[in-house]
Amino acid sequence: MDMLTKLIHNASLIDTATGASSTAVYHASTFHQHPGETGAWVYSRAGNPTRQALEATIADLEQGSYGFAFASGMAAIAAVMMLFEQGDHVILPRDIYGGTFDLMAQLVARYGLQATYVDLSNLAEVEAHITPRTRGIYIETPSNPTLKITDLRGVADLAHRHGLITIADNTFMSPYLQRPLTMGIDIVVHSATKFLGGHSDVIAGLAVATDPELAARIGKNQKTWGGILGPDDSWLVLRGIKTLGVRMDRAQQNALYLANWFVGRQGIKQVYYPGLAHHPGLQTHMAQALGAGAVLSVVLEDSLNWQAFVEHLQYAIFAVSLGGVETIVSHPATMSHAAMPAPERQRRGVDDNLLRISVGIESINDLIRDFEAALTYVTSLS
Ligand SMILES: *Cc1c(COP(=O)(O)O)cnc(C)c1O
Repeated sequence: MDMLTKLIHNASLIDTATGASSTAVYHASTFHQHPGETGAWVYSRAGNPTRQALEATIADLEQGSYGFAFASGMAAIAAVMMLFEQGDHVILPRDIYGGTFDLMAQLVARYGLQATYVDLSNLAEVEAHITPRTRGIYIETPSNPTLKITDLRGVADLAHRHGLITIADNTFMSPYLQRPLTMGIDIVVHSATKFLGGHSDVIAGLAVATDPELAARIGKNQKTWGGILGPDDSWLVLRGIKTLGVRMDRAQQNALYLANWFVGRQGIKQVYYPGLAHHPGLQTHMAQALGAGAVLSVVLEDSLNWQAFVEHLQYAIFAVSLGGVETIVSHPATMSHAAMPAPERQRRGVDDNLLRISVGIESINDLIRDFEAALTYVTSLS
């Protein structure tokens, strides 16, 4: 079955109890039991039919075997990081998502994990940091906000030679464009708040694994720490997933057009997008993903005022987050990376004049007109 069909005709299309055309929202905390036997459903923290429909769907889409739904992307990532033990060493990307960086800082300070941040697009650098205590490698590809590419197969091979667990945050690509488990990665995590939900109306997280033993440990963490996704939000993510393909196709087409439009334009110092011919990770990315996605970053010339640019935009909303049907512009230096000292930000390429654009599914003509007007306006000010 092709992916576009699978997004609709998956485990959750039909409610098995009634034949309804969408999974029912089971608002139940507990389930009636017969004395002496344990029913299929017992208590909703351990398992809920609506959540389970989402868990089966994401496992299927990622071509894994076991899915887990959490109250947020961070809850999913926390449950997975808690697979490690005191003293274990984990290698992570230098340009990691801010929330995951904060989580690791706490795990290091309070629970004795060890973390090393490297340039994951450089396999030799990754290998050089493996120690006898290393247990895992954590990947984000493309990375945020400079869209650097990590070779998923390369890291998986390296990790397996050293007996390490690999975890990939697949939020930016979604399973529509990239399926890390098919390339040897052990665990995929998602902020389903982004492309999977797709409408900027729900916070949710997912994890998927193939190995039963690893999955059992994630399931245990999900149940005992209890950061589960509720039935309403599970249903919203299921609803979002049905249109993931058409949304991604249109958003990606818009992003590619917009990225090329920005390249070489007066006032634009740099464009980061893994679909551009000059992107250093283009070949690696296209060997592991079906497209470049819908997120790009642009750096305005130093003389231009980014606030005035953003304020002049008519359609794009100015906000954190990404992956919605609407175009979302964010300013990492004061938003996602605000907690990071300025020199550290510069080192990671997070220029003070860098804007990240999560391209939506509006008319590309309107988007171009909007960005052109804003650029003309700020250029006239300088
Ligand atoms: C948003 C995001 C997260 C965190 O997800 P929440 O749903 O906000 O908890 C993790 N990783 C990436 C890449 C993200 O964009």
